[in-house]
Amino acid sequence: MTLERRCRPAAKSFGSRGTMTNQTAAQRVSVIGLGAMGAALAKALLAGGHEVTVWNRTAARAEPLVADGAKIAADSAEAMAAGDLVILCLLDDAAVREHLEPAAAHVRGKVVVNLTTTTPEQARSLGRWAETEQVALIDGGIMAVPEMIGGPAAFVLYSGATAGFERFRPVLESFGRAEFVGEDLGAAAMYDVSILGGMYAMFAAFRQGGAMVRSTGGSAARLAELMGPFLQAMAAMLEGYAPGIDNPADYVQPQSDEFTAAAIDLIDKSAAESGNPTELYAVLRGGLTGL
Ligand code: NAP
Repeated sequence: MTLERRCRPAAKSFGSRGTMTNQTAAQRVSVIGLGAMGAALAKALLAGGHEVTVWNRTAARAEPLVADGAKIAADSAEAMAAGDLVILCLLDDAAVREHLEPAAAHVRGKVVVNLTTTTPEQARSLGRWAETEQVALIDGGIMAVPEMIGGPAAFVLYSGATAGFERFRPVLESFGRAEFVGEDLGAAAMYDVSILGGMYAMFAAFRQGGAMVRSTGGSAARLAELMGPFLQAMAAMLEGYAPGIDNPADYVQPQSDEFTAAAIDLIDKSAAESGNPTELYAVLRGGLTGL
């Protein structure tokens, strides 16, 4: 790669608050794994003007990216050798280990970002391997679907090697807002699953609510219209609720256990009256009141 190419400004990046920032220098980046998400990441890097080398187990998935200017490597080790920044986006932790560990010599001294979804302990365990091999490892949790990558609503959580993150932050911002959440390699995965937990609780309650309103002649479509804005207003209350969770000694309940338990009993009874299951509400009662 010529110096001119290395120093060419990349097209766009997001600041820490999601705003567009100054253009950033093009970098050599490897992307291992071109499933729906890996392909979207590689595409965003190419759009950002970076020199991208890709590899995928099923080689045909690389073709559209090669047409857009990516270089294709013969195997995962060759791909990792090509980049100063190595990004993995594979199915799971086992696939990452299968390809990363034998390629240690090609990533030694480099920054590796694992955007494969893992558990916090899997991330820490890979971190122990990385420390032995002198690899600056960053774990990431992508809070977006592939179509959102590079757009204003996408953000990615990162944890682990702080200096490596700061060095490549402008490149990582090609995907969306880059949120560093801590040096503990397990932190990004833990924030990721916590956020997903909120999403699934919402979808479960909506699915069940849809069935309940249908029993009164209503529809899930009408419920969505009414529930969406209400939940958005409730979400705005999370920040106020946080200090009491961070400092349990100062915890002030937003609602008393009695009030919350009574409200959930009402939902529970309404579900039962309409012939719907009630298990979800028993779980919510425990989560909200600590019972
Ligand atoms: P996907 O479309 O199913 O792609 C899986 C990728 O893993 C493919 O490139 C596949 O290669 C590769 N792979 C699986 N086992 C492998 C192995 N043993 N060796 C080499 N390659 C292997 O999944 P995806 O949507 O891209 O997701 C990738 C990661 O991103 C996952 O950890 C997922 O949780 C995370 N993520 C995805 C989304 C999303 O909305 N899609 C959102 C957030 C996070 P082949 O093409 O050869 O099968």
